[in-house]
Amino acid sequence: MCRHLAYIGSPMPLAELLLTPDHGLLTQSWAPRHQRNGKVNADGFGVGWYAPGDALPARYRRAIPIWADRSFADVARVTSSRAVLAAVRSASSGMTHEESAAAPFTQGSWLFSHNGRVEGWPDALAGLAASLPAARLLALEAQVDSALLWALVLERLAAGDSAGDALTHVVRTVSAVASGRLNFLLTDGTSIAATAAGERLFWRNGTGSVVIASEPFDDDPGWHEVPDNCLLTATASHVDIRPIRNRTKEQVAP
Ligand code: GLN
Repeated sequence: MCRHLAYIGSPMPLAELLLTPDHGLLTQSWAPRHQRNGKVNADGFGVGWYAPGDALPARYRRAIPIWADRSFADVARVTSSRAVLAAVRSASSGMTHEESAAAPFTQGSWLFSHNGRVEGWPDALAGLAASLPAARLLALEAQVDSALLWALVLERLAAGDSAGDALTHVVRTVSAVASGRLNFLLTDGTSIAATAAGERLFWRNGTGSVVIASEPFDDDPGWHEVPDNCLLTATASHVDIRPIRNRTKEQVAP
């Protein structure tokens, strides 16, 4: 399914992170190397990034394949950022192909992405959806499992959870009621929380930078794979990986 990536570090041109690497998101949109589900990621794409002096991210999304958007290539060449979250999408069957369903989703300073699928959606999540305040449900951006998962994460963040705790909680509660693949990325521009829960996930750190991605964008030997059913939290200088316990139905996926 989708391929996604998050980066924190010294300012980096978006093109150098996403478009020019031999196996960057651009190449992954038509020739991913480690994708277990789906073949191409041509159902839209999105990029969120932070500009100096502004806590709110900018977001650029389209419903077309990333390779078809020459305007983005131009913007990406001249735009640098210290924190980026981007995704190319392979829409799960039965879910809308509209731009509004392309990650990243955002609220305030947060950017969020989901790689995976909830089996039995939407019925399987009806009970959890009913636990949300009506205002949050009415604000759902699109008819896609990822939008509801984002609403569940937002509810935990609003309740005071850290980013890592919010993701862990949602992976556990969703896994208790449905089978699915629940790889999440969440950033506020200074740290990243990510889950490996049914899909592959890799990370690499450099001098004062970290990148977390569905698959390595080059053949650098510094990439590491995150074990399945783990939460990764990272700042530019520190990476922590710990198990997500009590995930009961993930063995059913994919
Ligand atoms: N289920 C999500 C969607 O349809 C994510 C799909 C994916 O990971 N490919 O957008």
